[in-house]
Amino acid sequence: MPPKPISARVFCIANQKGGVGKTTTAVNLAASLAIQRQKVLLIDLDPQGNATMGSGVDKRTVEHTVYEVLIGEQSILTAKVRAEAAGYDVLPANRELSGAEIDLVRMEERELRLKRAIEEVSDQYHFILIDCPPTLSLLTLNGLTAAHGVVIPMQCEYFALEGLSDLVNTIKRLYANINPDLRIIGLLRVMFDPRVTLQQQVSAQLEEHFGDKVFRTVIPRNVRLAEAPSHGVPGVLYDKSSRGAQAYLAFGKEMIKRVAKL
Ligand code: ATP
Ligand code: MG
Repeated sequence: MPPKPISARVFCIANQKGGVGKTTTAVNLAASLAIQRQKVLLIDLDPQGNATMGSGVDKRTVEHTVYEVLIGEQSILTAKVRAEAAGYDVLPANRELSGAEIDLVRMEERELRLKRAIEEVSDQYHFILIDCPPTLSLLTLNGLTAAHGVVIPMQCEYFALEGLSDLVNTIKRLYANINPDLRIIGLLRVMFDPRVTLQQQVSAQLEEHFGDKVFRTVIPRNVRLAEAPSHGVPGVLYDKSSRGAQAYLAFGKEMIKRVAKL
């Protein structure tokens, strides 16, 4: 019997606040889903190229990048690389991508370029994850326009909710105008330290305000997750038994369940 046809579910990992754990979440969710036998493509949409490096792919030596895909010189098929150790495909990024903003402004359908490129490969993956930069730029808009949903990693800090309204308003605007599929899949509490009373309080507030939109899984602050990128493997593979790895493995399972209900 031929294998059942698949059609990728596309998710952005986004939060315009910097350093909140987007890339760590993107890389570890990709690896966790791959462990669950899902075919995964991770798209690095950040000129910093951290998701590329964290997947064990050297951003300085890749032949093609997401930049060339956005400006129409390559397809995802020709530009993707296999992150062998991590177990999934990566569409890499590096500094070249910082020029995309300027190039794209002059192009037709500038917000739709990534969506169009993804359509060509959506029958090859179960999940396509997009690691967004810490901005609400044209790059992030391309990610959000291409996605079925957004995963928002956040730290349980006093100002955590403040920046969220801009992202939520952008999501609402896109939903109303160009992407009726777009929804918030969930808020993911990351770098959580239960010994800090304030973090417990903010975490409880999040549950109160957002209910089911808050993932049950909580990602603890765990140094093994921070060490993993320098070894070129996702944390879930670097030290499987660490609390951080266990949490991201659980998150992968929660994600599969949540997405099945969409
Ligand atoms: P940027 O906005 O610059 O893209 P980001 O939102 O992608 O940042 P990360 O790069 O994932 O954030 O994380 C920021 C820093 O925090 C990194 O050094 C990362 O290793 C560390 N970090 C992320 N999650 C955890 C965690 N659960 N425990 C400990 N350290 C973490
Ligand atoms: Mg990042």
